[in-house]
Amino acid sequence: MPGKNGIHDQIILGSGPAGYTAAIYASRSNCCPLLIAGLQPGGQLTGTTLVENFPGFPEGIDGQELMDRMRDQAVHFGTTLVDGEVTRVELGEQPFRIWLEDRVYRCRSLIIGTGASPRMLGLANEKELYGRGVSVCATCDGFFYRDKEVAVVGGGDTAMEDALFLARFATKVTVIHRRDELRAGPVLAERALQHPKIEFSWDSVVSAIHGDSKAGFQGLTVQNVKTGQEQPLASDGVFIAIGHHPNTQLFKGQLEMDDWGYLVTRNGTETSVCGVFAAGDVQDPDFRQAITAAGSGCMAAIQSQHYLECLEDADCRQCGK
Ligand code: NAP
Repeated sequence: MPGKNGIHDQIILGSGPAGYTAAIYASRSNCCPLLIAGLQPGGQLTGTTLVENFPGFPEGIDGQELMDRMRDQAVHFGTTLVDGEVTRVELGEQPFRIWLEDRVYRCRSLIIGTGASPRMLGLANEKELYGRGVSVCATCDGFFYRDKEVAVVGGGDTAMEDALFLARFATKVTVIHRRDELRAGPVLAERALQHPKIEFSWDSVVSAIHGDSKAGFQGLTVQNVKTGQEQPLASDGVFIAIGHHPNTQLFKGQLEMDDWGYLVTRNGTETSVCGVFAAGDVQDPDFRQAITAAGSGCMAAIQSQHYLECLEDADCRQCGK
């Protein structure tokens, strides 16, 4: 809830593990935060099957269920949730202003947990065939590939997880990877390499996606990066699992970013603007785990609370005040 002057103490952007954890901590400190959930409430984990490495769930937990539980916990302690996408922010002076379509919210402290989005290949037809044979979410779309053949692009954990999930439905899964060595961790990599339905197209990239919105997906052309040779790959769909880019467009020119567009944080979760904190994948190109995002969300809430206390204090030295 905003204060008497209509200004919120804390607004949190994003509803992944970072945003929800920040909300849990902030609401338990009586800060009554407002959380703006973004276009994909629950974030990336809602597209994951079993999360086996989040402490407290020895048998694993479904990604969507984990996020639903975090949301319920935040609401239980007093977080106000708003759905929708922020279109503009002004962080140049206090109070900060946040636009959600035609509504403007004002706050004294902002926590950014807007995460990262899937990277695409950038090929012609990719957008046109998105949802019609081109997918970034095996959990969401795998069901449609029962008794069909599919391809997965990438060599990381996501690609292996997708390939293993798709192998439950499909007759054959071809992993197309640009090198001859997987980036994925040894457990997932070994499971995929040993799986009888999963084949690997090493040192290869997708050079063309065939089809259009009328004819639908018509297969791929795969190119060997060492020989340059191209080959058709018969497939009923392709899952792109080549990593993510940080959702920081809104903050360009207002917050310091690194060369890849990740928000730069110092002393924990402080950004280049005093009173603005960043947590989770939006500022983390290295670890990108649900648990590290949750941990930094906790840090952001505590640092934001210290900042708010400091604003009341005439002797406050934070941010050179
Ligand atoms: P990632 O680790 O960055 O892997 C991306 C993969 O895509 C790499 O193999 C990369 O190739 C390839 N790639 C990138 N750009 C490409 C392009 N333009 N064309 C073709 N291939 C391209 O991303 P991720 O797999 O999404 O994983 C992200 C993080 O989440 C990681 O830290 C991962 O450990 C974690 N994660 C964990 C789990 C789990 O533990 N269950 C599940 C999913 C994700 P190169 O190898 O040549 O760079």
